[in-house]
Amino acid sequence: MFQGSSNSQVNTNVQPKLPVAAVPAAVAPVTPATPAPVATFKPPPQDFESITSMYYKQLFPFRPVFQWLNHAPDPTPDFSKREIAMELHNGAYTRYRSYETPESFKKEVSFLNPARFEIGPVYSIDLINRAKYQKDSIQPVQKELIFDIDMTDYDEIRSCCSGTDICEKCWGFVRVAMHVIDFVLRHDFGFKFILWVFSGRRGVHAWISDYRARFLPDNARRSIVDYVNVFRGVSQGKLKLPRPLHPMLSHTLELLKSNFVSVVLQGQNPWGAPGAEKQLLSRLPNNGPFQQRLKQKWSEEPNRSSLDKWKDIDEIAKSKDLKTLDRNALLEAKQDIMFYYLAPRLDENVSTKLNHLLKSPFCIHPKTQKICVPIPTDQIDTFDPSSVPIATELLKEVQGKRVTENTYESTTLRPYVDYFRKFYNEQHKAERSLKRSRESEGLDF
Ligand SMILES: [Zn+2]
Repeated sequence: MFQGSSNSQVNTNVQPKLPVAAVPAAVAPVTPATPAPVATFKPPPQDFESITSMYYKQLFPFRPVFQWLNHAPDPTPDFSKREIAMELHNGAYTRYRSYETPESFKKEVSFLNPARFEIGPVYSIDLINRAKYQKDSIQPVQKELIFDIDMTDYDEIRSCCSGTDICEKCWGFVRVAMHVIDFVLRHDFGFKFILWVFSGRRGVHAWISDYRARFLPDNARRSIVDYVNVFRGVSQGKLKLPRPLHPMLSHTLELLKSNFVSVVLQGQNPWGAPGAEKQLLSRLPNNGPFQQRLKQKWSEEPNRSSLDKWKDIDEIAKSKDLKTLDRNALLEAKQDIMFYYLAPRLDENVSTKLNHLLKSPFCIHPKTQKICVPIPTDQIDTFDPSSVPIATELLKEVQGKRVTENTYESTTLRPYVDYFRKFYNEQHKAERSLKRSRESEGLDF
């Protein structure tokens, strides 16, 4: 079962927002708990605040997340100058936190117990000393290139669900968008380290961690987004792409074609309801006799589905006596329809700003309690957002078990962490070899 917010069991009491100043800038050292070799998990609590507390202390994979952000096993400035921002349960939002080690990272997150925490850029200075610096000398220097796909941007074209709900049918839009972005970033930009992460409710984030992606300035990020986003051509709900199609769009079109019938025509049936065919006709060439025949066919058989109507277009266009019909314009109109429905719809601000903050992988979504798990690229088609581990379920899985550093290994979270570690290992290998070649270039010089 897919879950919407209506199924949420989260405590939604809204607390007044506290000023950020009310949050301690540095947390007093927590008295370390005496190691208890026989400590076992208690039954999961019911309220969200206690759930996050137990999850951070005992299940959140801090070391893998540290390694991924640090690009190496031992702490480097890539981690220690990285901004971590937190939204606390009382509504306060605290920014510009940073940590020297994975241990101090875990200690403070466990102590502050945020509802969620977000990851920002690596800065030019140690954030802990930022009060000593002039404001304009505090600059973000690197961060993953991010793409954000959220079902909100598909609301005008999905008929199966609305609001925060999702189902198997509309998840198809997200799946196709992931395929397109993944393909373009690898094929046209040569990026290799693209980490897809479920946002916890109805979307996904792509974190592109290649070295050269991380150091892109805002204007270069903007150019990449402009290149990928075809919706700049939309006017009054219609899309007319320039021809000939850019090679990137020709490649993309092949991906769209193979999903258009199942995701759009069968999944959403956009022109099935009485009168909805008008919208389809308005997107086709304005050829009188051609439009007339389609109208006639669909008024005689008003129950024809969107798939039937899509086939009718080609069937009627075959008629030899439709001499004035521009078949090429028809082909292009049909392609534009596919792009309109299936090309990725992006939240551009997330991608174009180096200092944008984004929820960390493995956080708990506060409404669904689902974990923001990574999605292996080769499992985009089989990933099912309804089967993602839920925080309370994970805590039930470990109830009565011994607490260890890697307790998640005995839970259904494990395959996601294993994939994440594998992603980091490959990235680390690439970073090391890049570093070696930069050093040897430096020596040659
Ligand atoms: Zn749906």
